[in-house]
Amino acid sequence: MADLAQAREWLDAAGRVAVLTGAGVSAESGVPTFRGHSGDALWDRYSWEELASPEGFYRDPELVWRWYDWRRGLVAQANPNPAHHALAGYQERRAPSVVIVTQNVDGLHERSGSLDVVRLHGSLWSVRCTRCHREFADERVPLPELPPRCAACQGMLRPGVVWFGEELPEREWIAAQEAAATAQAMLVVGTSAAVYPAAMLVPLAQSNRAKVIEINIEETPLSPRADLHLQGKAGEVLPELLK
Ligand code: NAD
Ligand code: ZN
Repeated sequence: MADLAQAREWLDAAGRVAVLTGAGVSAESGVPTFRGHSGDALWDRYSWEELASPEGFYRDPELVWRWYDWRRGLVAQANPNPAHHALAGYQERRAPSVVIVTQNVDGLHERSGSLDVVRLHGSLWSVRCTRCHREFADERVPLPELPPRCAACQGMLRPGVVWFGEELPEREWIAAQEAAATAQAMLVVGTSAAVYPAAMLVPLAQSNRAKVIEINIEETPLSPRADLHLQGKAGEVLPELLK
């Protein structure tokens, strides 16, 4: 395929490569994407905005926690797929010039062996106290009580993720911008590239002349502006592209 050859050429010529991933990279692991159907009747009645916002959480913390507990359960049973493995292998071969920036909270990049993943939206496996603001790792599935309580102060815990309307963690956001601004090629994989500010990373890379290669099963708002759109599943295209 001519497009694959062109993409490889740009990647090989690039001194630094930035990779931006979204929910689509985990779809083949069985983790539902943002807009995809969960198939679970309960969650179908709620929008992600209701379940993934501070307003939704304070309105009904138990409901939001039930949803996160369910997602943690799903991800605990899921495994990294060929897309994660291809990226981890590529990063290892080209270390340290490939930076992976993810919007995912599932930890599957890390589990496939990728190091130093820049996590823009936090993690399903961290929790934060709404009272004393301590942050903990918590990998219990299922959680023993919902909402879970802080071991230090008994305050209510919240998921350690970034919700709609919240700011990105500063250190990660700076690292992501630096990766985008210094790359000569950017892979945008499995993201609708519609959630800001993460979506800003693409024009930032392009303004510094990076070639942007999109990998997605369908056209996205980014497609017309990408230098190349490789249509297909991340778990099939990436192993072929990066072998
Ligand atoms: P999104 O659901 O908006 O977009 C997913 C994209 O992936 C779509 O463009 C879809 O066409 C594409 N896609 C689906 N299956 C694919 C496959 N097999 N190969 C390639 N592409 C595929 O997701 P997003 O852009 O990541 O939305 C961002 C928000 O959703 C983030 O805030 C993120 O934290 C949250 N989220 C995270 C997870 C996760 O951690 N796995 C899952 C769902 C949502
Ligand atoms: Zn506390």
